[in-house]
Formats: sequence, C-alpha cells, structure tokens
Amino acid sequence: MQDISSLKRNAWMEVNLAAIRHNVRTIKSLMAPTCKLMAIVKADAYGHGAGVCARAMASAGAQQFGVATVQEALELRQSGIAQPIVLLSEPPVETIDLLLENDIMPGVTSSEFVLAYGERAIAHDMVGKYHLALDTGMTRIGIPAEDAVEFRRLVDFHRGIACAGTYTHFATADTIGDWDFRRQVQRFTDAIRALHEAKLYPGIVHCDNTAATMLYPDIQFDMCRVGIALYGIHPAESTVELAELEPAMSIRARITRVANPRIGDGVSYGMTYRVNTPYMQIATIPIGYADGLSRSLSGEMDVLVHGRRARQVGRICMDQCMFAYPLRSMTSSTMAPELAVGDVVTIMGSDEDEYISADEIGQLRHTIAYEVLCNFSARLERIYVS
Ligand SMILES: *Cc1c(COP(=O)(O)O)cnc(C)c1O
Repeated sequence: MQDISSLKRNAWMEVNLAAIRHNVRTIKSLMAPTCKLMAIVKADAYGHGAGVCARAMASAGAQQFGVATVQEALELRQSGIAQPIVLLSEPPVETIDLLLENDIMPGVTSSEFVLAYGERAIAHDMVGKYHLALDTGMTRIGIPAEDAVEFRRLVDFHRGIACAGTYTHFATADTIGDWDFRRQVQRFTDAIRALHEAKLYPGIVHCDNTAATMLYPDIQFDMCRVGIALYGIHPAESTVELAELEPAMSIRARITRVANPRIGDGVSYGMTYRVNTPYMQIATIPIGYADGLSRSLSGEMDVLVHGRRARQVGRICMDQCMFAYPLRSMTSSTMAPELAVGDVVTIMGSDEDEYISADEIGQLRHTIAYEVLCNFSARLERIYVS
C-alpha cells in the first residue's frame, strides 16, 4: 500500500512509473533500433500527469515528445523536459513567439502559419523548425499528401524556417489488413519519395501511432508516435497478444460511510435503486462524475473491496457514489466481514486477484479506454509509485 498520508481527499489516482518505464522499453523492443520513439503526452499524459510521466519516459528511452497544445508543451519545458517537443497540430499564430522562445516545434498545415513563423524567427535571429502534416486520407489535418512538393516549393524560399519532420496520421491502423490503411501508407510513401526526388529534405519521417507501431513493424520510418501503449493499454484487441503491457493508472477511494439500511430503502438521487435483500450494506465513497467517474456508469459498474467485486448502486453524484455489499451471499451461509469507514475501494486497477480495467469501464460507458483515462484527470490528486 502506498503512502497516502499527503492526500487532502479520500479519493485518488495512483500512477505506477515503473509500469510506464516497462511499457516504454517494451514498445522500443518492437521498433528498429534506429527508429526514434516520440512519447505522446497530450491531455496531461492521457490523464497520468505530463511532467512526471515524461521524465520517466525519457529515462526509459523516449527521445521526443508530442503534445496537442502550446500550454501542454510549456508545462513539459517547465518540468525540465529538454528533448524535442512537437505540437501535433497547428496552433494559433498568436503563439508563435512562445514556440520560438521555448523551442517548441509546431505541426504545420498552412503556408500562412509557416511564413508568419518564419518572419518572427528572423526577428528573433533564429530558424524556426517545424513538422509538416500531410493528410493521407483521415481528413482531419494536414495539406493533401500529393501537394507536399508544391507546398515546400512555395515556402522554402524563407530563410527563417526549416522543415524538421514530415508526418501523417492513420485512421484505421488497428484493423489488420485494412485497405484504407494500405492506401494511406501508399500516399505517404509516394509523398516522401516525391520530396526526396525534388531534393526537398523531409526531415524526420513519422506516421505510426501505437496500433501501427505494434501491428506493422515493416512500416516504421524514422520515428513512431506512441501514446496509449506507454500507459499500459492496448489500442485494440488486435495488439493484445503482441506485447505484455502494464496499466499504469489505478483509481482508489476510502469508504467514508457504511449504512445498514432496511429492505425498501432507496439510494441516491431519484432512488433508482432500492435495497432488496437483508444483510446488505451500502457504503459511500467520495468520488463522483466531477472526478471522471461518468454518471452514465450508474448502477452498471463494479468496484473492488477486500478483493471482491461489489456493484455500484444508485445514481453517481458529482462528488460521491455508493455501492452495495451483501454480507451474506445467496449461495453460502457464512457472513462476509463488515465494511468499515476507511477501507480502501478500487474503482480501476487490481485488488488481490480481482481486476477492473479501463477497457471494462470504457465498454460500460460506450466509449474507449483513452477517454476513461483522460476523464480521471479532472480533479483527483495523483500519487506516483516508482
Ligand atoms: C494521439 C496521437 C498519437 C498517439 O496515438 P495512440 O493511439 O495513443 O498511440 C499519435 N499521433 C497523433 C497525431 C496523435 O494525435
């Protein structure tokens, strides 16, 4: 059990940094030794806390970092990250000075932006490095892949800029043998070849997310951009057998109240749950939807207590929720030990032999583990285990 004496709440997130380092090394072992690993730490490292996680990832061999916003990039610099940082999409022009002052490379998708970037770079007596985003079929960001050479010819006259990388992003890398994936790879490969033929150096070439890194080791260019696997979660069923990943995030709370209600008593707003068996304890834990425990899980999810599953019951409130704990099971006459205030409950993670995964919670919420992880960052304090 971790030292939780510093916590100001009876609900918290545990982040296992040893798991994160293990995952970095595991993913690197699937990559060509010359291929760089860009650790994706956007959204506060998928909810795990960007500064601390990025330092752990760097210590295990991550060479670059990818984020979504300028704010996220600045936080990495403030926490001492000296490695290259790339913004995965183009930020507002107003942020250009911040990028230059903090050595943050923008992903570029327009000539207006990159020329404005070059102008400010010259004013700072610098050269602004950037990565060019190509749209190869996802229709999200980037210039059309077939326009890469034309784009570079249009902007390369500017002495204030230098293309340090060229990249694209896949929409269907997690589906084995997918035709759209193959077509994206083809368009990307064609664009990179055309750049080389036109003597326009593409810089570091990268396209793989976790799924592509794991499923297509033959299509790694100079760098892989890996997010979800570093946190110990598989992007899809198709990658599960390819590596042993260790989930890094656990969510726990201490029981703040134990009730011994009568049959027929209701629980929580709307009283959608009523006690229907004798010897049923109802325990309260101080974690709710403001902490990322979506209200849509009400009455659907389990928690773990004393190594056993117990069903969460009644509507999940903003800051608290309740679960039902049968002291006597249908099948046995022995009584379970009573719950006590202060007992630790696991909302996600393991307790003895039982385990609740982000995927399990995601399925109940009709979403993916990615969103489950991000949502838990809302208000919970973090404890780092190394
Ligand atoms: C989020 C993101 C990634 C990482 O994706 P994972 O599936 O978490 O590995 C890579 N590249 C880009 C552009 C992204 O937005």
